[in-house]
Amino acid sequence: MKIAFIGLGNMGGGMAANLVNAGHEVRAFDLSPDALAKARDNGCTPCASIPEACEGAEAVVSMLPNGQIVLSAYTGEVIGAAPDGAIFIDCSTIDVATAREVAAKAEEAGYAMVDAPVSGGIAAANGGTLTFMVGGSEEAFKRAETVLSAMGKAVIHAGDAGNGQAAKICNNMLLAIHMIGTSEAFAMAQKLGLDPQTFYDISSVSSGQNWSMTSYCPVPGVGPQSPSDNDYQGGFATGLMLKDLRLAMDAAETSDAAVPLGARAAALYEDFAGAGNDGLDFSAIIRTY
Ligand code: NAD
Repeated sequence: MKIAFIGLGNMGGGMAANLVNAGHEVRAFDLSPDALAKARDNGCTPCASIPEACEGAEAVVSMLPNGQIVLSAYTGEVIGAAPDGAIFIDCSTIDVATAREVAAKAEEAGYAMVDAPVSGGIAAANGGTLTFMVGGSEEAFKRAETVLSAMGKAVIHAGDAGNGQAAKICNNMLLAIHMIGTSEAFAMAQKLGLDPQTFYDISSVSSGQNWSMTSYCPVPGVGPQSPSDNDYQGGFATGLMLKDLRLAMDAAETSDAAVPLGARAAALYEDFAGAGNDGLDFSAIIRTY
């Protein structure tokens, strides 16, 4: 397929390269000349603007920083420049309301659109092993699936427009809550005289077991290899977790959902990031205990 790709940063760069590797023709645009040069080295055709990248495109894929940028890119440049019948696939993590607004504007102009945020970080983007959570009509989902499967290991339909973003922020709010809970439990166990490995051996086969404990343990040297074993470098940055928690808090307010633990987790990550820890993996929050 002929695919336009917009946003070739940490995530988008590897994703565009995987589309090329799968045999697609990728016309790419990013505001950063460095990102564009890297995309050219990976086999993409670099373009000077979004409309130029959209010329002849059967699909438009974007991986951009936030909702405002996604809204202005689609409503200001992609709509009208992309040929009739092109499918729009936004993989950025943005707020549910903006995702629904952009999809509605695309539909009004006669295009199908899905929101398709990802689970998995830079390594999964480079390795083509992302999980996509997709919001849009059944028909739009089927068309997007062909493109997304070249960049991921799982592509899951979450329902109508915006539901991909809803799944992503609910999942990450839960992740923040159980990472903090796991950190508290390990810290208290130690204060009560339990060795962390012993606590892990017991709790990992008891009812406290959870992903933050057994796949991503915040305690160095305990459980499988994770960022805590590398001084909390790499992994999922605290700054990105905070971005997702802020989106979750906005969504809770607009949907009138009660999220007392989510709100507490957001406040704790605000403090942790504010103390200069944005770049550390989010499991480093255990240091505050
Ligand atoms: P990034 O900052 O590395 O990349 C964003 C790219 O978009 C940059 O290269 C920037 O130059 C480009 N850009 C900004 N405005 C543009 C515009 N108007 N036109 C064209 N290009 C423009 O960010 P990232 O880490 O790649 O994240 C992208 C998205 O993926 C975000 O929404 C983020 O929340 C989400 N995400 C990131 C991760 C991760 O681990 N990095 C994981 C899951 C989801």
